[in-house]
Amino acid sequence: MSQAEHYEILILGSGAAGKLLAWHMAGSGRRTAMVERRWIGGSCPNIACLPSKNEIWSAEVAHLVQHAAEFGTTNGPAAVNMAAVRRRKRDMVDREIAHHLENYKASGTELIMGTGRFVAPKTLEVQLNDGGTRLLTGDRVFLNLGTHAAIPNIPGLEAARPLTHIEALELDYLPAHLIVLGGGYVGLELAQAYRRFGAEVTIIEAGPEFAGREDRDVAETLLEMLRGEGIEVLLDTKALRVDGRSGESVGLVVQSPAGERRLDASDILVAVGRTPNTSGIGLDRAGVALDPRGYIAVNDRLETSAPGVWAIGECAGSPQFTHASLDDFRVIRDNFAGGARSTRNRLVPYCLFTDPQLARVGLNETEAALKGVAVRLAKLPMSAVLRSRTISETGGFMKALVAADDDRILGFAMIGPEAGEVVAVAQTAMLAGMPYTALRDAILTHPTMAEGLGPLLSRVPAS
Ligand SMILES: Cc1cc2nc3c(=O)[nH]c(=O)nc-3n(C[C@H](O)[C@H](O)[C@H](O)COP(=O)(O)OP(=O)(O)OC[C@H]3O[C@@H](n4cnc5c(N)ncnc54)[C@H](O)[C@@H]3O)c2cc1C
Repeated sequence: MSQAEHYEILILGSGAAGKLLAWHMAGSGRRTAMVERRWIGGSCPNIACLPSKNEIWSAEVAHLVQHAAEFGTTNGPAAVNMAAVRRRKRDMVDREIAHHLENYKASGTELIMGTGRFVAPKTLEVQLNDGGTRLLTGDRVFLNLGTHAAIPNIPGLEAARPLTHIEALELDYLPAHLIVLGGGYVGLELAQAYRRFGAEVTIIEAGPEFAGREDRDVAETLLEMLRGEGIEVLLDTKALRVDGRSGESVGLVVQSPAGERRLDASDILVAVGRTPNTSGIGLDRAGVALDPRGYIAVNDRLETSAPGVWAIGECAGSPQFTHASLDDFRVIRDNFAGGARSTRNRLVPYCLFTDPQLARVGLNETEAALKGVAVRLAKLPMSAVLRSRTISETGGFMKALVAADDDRILGFAMIGPEAGEVVAVAQTAMLAGMPYTALRDAILTHPTMAEGLGPLLSRVPAS
């Protein structure tokens, strides 16, 4: 075993929080090492947010081209070239990696490519990707390990070599028929993209309800829109067994309310949830406790059970978004600077990048009812927002929840074009504690989607 090398700051895993922390700490003069086994910059730029949105945009282009005549442009026969789709995505990822490497260099962070595991408290043994090992110790150790796609225990599934999001974003061919196991955001985004590239797509959702965390009207609108594009969605349907091999031909036997049924397809994508990357890396030897779901147990300052060890991002049970991981970095940074920043009561928005997008912040109706929060509700169809008519995208709606006893906005949801942008306006008003009337009466640019907030909030019933 090599002799231990000591760092002031030692980070395992280069996700959103970890890399920002590395650059910040090294940039302020602390001897900092980052250990990363594969993805320079973590999941977001390599295999998750950015590449998925890149390919979703290619799918959007394919969709527009297919409907170009409606907009007054006629063109010749169009075809999707998945190798070119992948090339555009890979070019973007390569640029991201180069940008990350520049940041590591400029900040003075030592980037160590290898797999780390604890051999003692605050002590990592790193199996280097280039061969050999290094032993590293840190005054302060940060874990930003992320999660990976869960593969459910269904007979024949593993042998079928199913796609996860990683392989799905690397395909250079168009699946003839793609089965998507799981109706969560990863599954829905990729299902629609592949449908728009031209594949037959079937989504298998085990739960009786679609998009179970959303209000019924939101979930039903989304379901209707996906079905409207020719995506088959089977609800309350359990996968029983799989045969064949993804990429060639796969058979899936399911149990649905109508009975047992066999589906034959060319490819199968698994998107049923995430498993934290916390097993087999000696966290017990480091004194780092896990919660019952296998995530690292942390307090609201992201401190673990081991003194001098913090966990950040998804492995710490933070909301599974890049912007939440980024905020974990800010919690650590500000607390180190003597502040008192916590993860409690964070307002974390999100956007499902289907077309149209679904975005939400704060409470929805279901949560308000569960928590016994009295609200006033306003809803506006997107067809009433003039901008939606100019682009022929009038499906969906906006919804606002306002406190019953004062004028604070407690929640906002939108399914419609640019929902991911409009939600930021509602969120800003919520963060500022603005009365809904101030946003209602604001002069907003015409014709934009955000302009719809005025008529939406005009519908809030008087208290
Ligand atoms: C398909 C898909 C699309 C998504 N789209 C969005 C989106 O649009 N918007 C959004 O906000 N979020 C999205 N997410 C979620 C988002 O990617 C994550 O929440 C985000 O990347 C934050 O992750 P993180 O910081 O916890 O860790 P990660 O970015 O996952 O980083 C963890 C790193 O740790 C490394 N690692 C793990 N164990 C070890 C070890 N023992 N040794 C060395 N290295 C190790 C891993 O290789 C990895 O690079 C998406 C996720 C997926 C799967």
